[in-house]
Amino acid sequence: MSTNRLVYLDNNATTRIAPEVVESMMPCLTDYWGNPSSAYSLAIKPANLIEEARERVARLIGSDKRNIVFTSCGTESNNAAIQGALMANPMKRHVVSTAVEHSANIKFCRHLEKCGYEVTLLPVDLDGAIDFCDLQSAIRQDTAIVSIMWANNETGVLFPIEEIAAICRSNGVLFHTDAVQVAGKLPIDVQGLGVDYLSLSAHKLRAPKGIGLLYIKSGVVFSPYIMGGAQERGLRGGTENVANIVAFGKAAELALSHIEIENKQTRSLRDRLEKGIFQSIAGAVRNGGEPRLPNTSNIGFQGIEAEAALLLLDREGICASSGSACTTGSIEPSHVLQAMGVPAARSKGSLRFSLGIENTEQDVDFLLDKLPAIVERLRGASPEALV
Ligand code: PLP
Repeated sequence: MSTNRLVYLDNNATTRIAPEVVESMMPCLTDYWGNPSSAYSLAIKPANLIEEARERVARLIGSDKRNIVFTSCGTESNNAAIQGALMANPMKRHVVSTAVEHSANIKFCRHLEKCGYEVTLLPVDLDGAIDFCDLQSAIRQDTAIVSIMWANNETGVLFPIEEIAAICRSNGVLFHTDAVQVAGKLPIDVQGLGVDYLSLSAHKLRAPKGIGLLYIKSGVVFSPYIMGGAQERGLRGGTENVANIVAFGKAAELALSHIEIENKQTRSLRDRLEKGIFQSIAGAVRNGGEPRLPNTSNIGFQGIEAEAALLLLDREGICASSGSACTTGSIEPSHVLQAMGVPAARSKGSLRFSLGIENTEQDVDFLLDKLPAIVERLRGASPEALV
């Protein structure tokens, strides 16, 4: 039966824009519409707003504002870090990453291979963890950059970024981390982490889509990926999206103000969700080990097709996901679960629930009310159904 209720449990795909964020960006669309690079006074306000936003996003990650380059999205930031490091070190033609990165990395690495570069994608175990020995032995004389995500978007599994950064440093190799799924969920301190580059995307943080950032450590080489005007101190050409940059700044400020409460709240809802599922649905198994993000739960239901479950959940007004949104619609199994060695029968019936600050116990209970019957119905329809 359809319902008017919307239960949004897909916050790793994107987040609803916070009202304060919408409010902050509106004046840039109405009053402060001048080109920030222009020489007249109409440019002063938008130019100043960009710098205020830069300070705010820098504060979210413990950086100086001079180390922030605004980009169009997390995908661009990842591409720019890898390409920027390669272009700045033309003698080095090898990249190390992992088999469970977002397609923003994996597809770019595949493209690099076609261009004659070499790529090593590190394997992961069933928990989704990498082996430091594999990393150490993958690094070569000609490795330009290691790019490893901090939190996996499908499972929430966290890689030990500080240790990975230390290994890269001791080998004299640049290190980039994709922290797109971490922002607003865990504290970020780029100094303590010791990374050279770090990517964020605003739409995971209750800001609009189409704006991201790349942190570049002082003194680290970087060759611009998008060339044009002198914006972003010549590191990223293109007239700035002032409204989105301002929104990103506001969202970063909000996220910083309630990071602890959001962490506690989503963790408690996630635990309620998992407890409820394991109590009511036989054969449900969590994908991925610890440590992991507080908000993410990836659960395999043997004997069902995830896409069919998503359709039935959608009819009830529940939004979830079968993996990363960028691969939804494709019948390919999740490359993340595949790389972890999750059996195909479980992987194709795996659902991701990702909670956000707006979720309530009622949302979780609504899911727990609907999901068991959906799984039972689909198992009844499947030859692989559990008895
Ligand atoms: N990296 C990770 C881990 C992500 O989850 C995403 C988006 O889902 C991206 C990169 C890409 O970010 P954007 O959508 O801003 O291009």
